[in-house]
Amino acid sequence: MDRLLKTLVFGGDVSAAVISNTDALNKAIKIHGFSPVAAAAFGRTMTACTFMASGLKNATDKLYVTVKGDGIGGKITVCGDGNLNMRGAVDCPHVDLPLKSNGKLDVGGFVGGNGRITVVKSMGLKEPYSGSSRLVSGEIAEDFTAYYTLSEQTPTAMALGVLIGKTGKALSSGGVIVQAMPAAKEESLVKAEEIIRSLFDVSKKLKEFGAEGLLKKCFGATEFTEYAPKYKCACTRKYVEGVIISLGKNQAEDIIKTQGKIEINCDFCGKTYIFTAEDVEKLF
Ligand SMILES: [Zn+2]
Repeated sequence: MDRLLKTLVFGGDVSAAVISNTDALNKAIKIHGFSPVAAAAFGRTMTACTFMASGLKNATDKLYVTVKGDGIGGKITVCGDGNLNMRGAVDCPHVDLPLKSNGKLDVGGFVGGNGRITVVKSMGLKEPYSGSSRLVSGEIAEDFTAYYTLSEQTPTAMALGVLIGKTGKALSSGGVIVQAMPAAKEESLVKAEEIIRSLFDVSKKLKEFGAEGLLKKCFGATEFTEYAPKYKCACTRKYVEGVIISLGKNQAEDIIKTQGKIEINCDFCGKTYIFTAEDVEKLF
């Protein structure tokens, strides 16, 4: 079961979160047919974004994040809402890369170190918040750490990890993220950063101890706020109707004339929506 556990540690100086989202990543792997390295890149990004979504104030607030580097995988997109319903896609989901010399999946090579993270948070009627920062390495954890520090001015450290089994399924996905609270003592931040540095194999530790066990092991914390992240698409036939209406009557009728129907696939869940000539006529 996927979980995000969040609590204050070190006398309230540091906010700590443990995220376990193996089920969500396996759902994404099933939909997109991710190669192991694509699954790792997407899983790490989704973990950072799930944490980000847990900071949205309202359930209906939305998050739209892209990680666009110069690697062979292309752009990674992840969307979510305040209920932690997450979804996303990768430009080139099937390309794979050899393992790095340390035996880890080459996420940095897949994503590429030159590029940007862009974050848009839309909160009801207010003007959307948008922030952006340069990628550091394309390994995702360092990139989101830089994003939080530079763009949101919140000192942050994170360990993100994905463990892929021989069959291509994720055995473990998630991470540990710490953030400084206002007026946090320096020694608390140093302690939190040391813990993150020790979690170089966070996916294995999550598999071994579980989210709750890891929160206790890392921070001695036994009380927490719990969230239930999911991989869940928000697409509906109503939404797709809007897309067709925005094409305009002429273009929609042209597609019907040449292809007999309009077929639209959702990038995030793979669902296919089909509109016949009759459906299109009703729309206009
Ligand atoms: Zn969908």
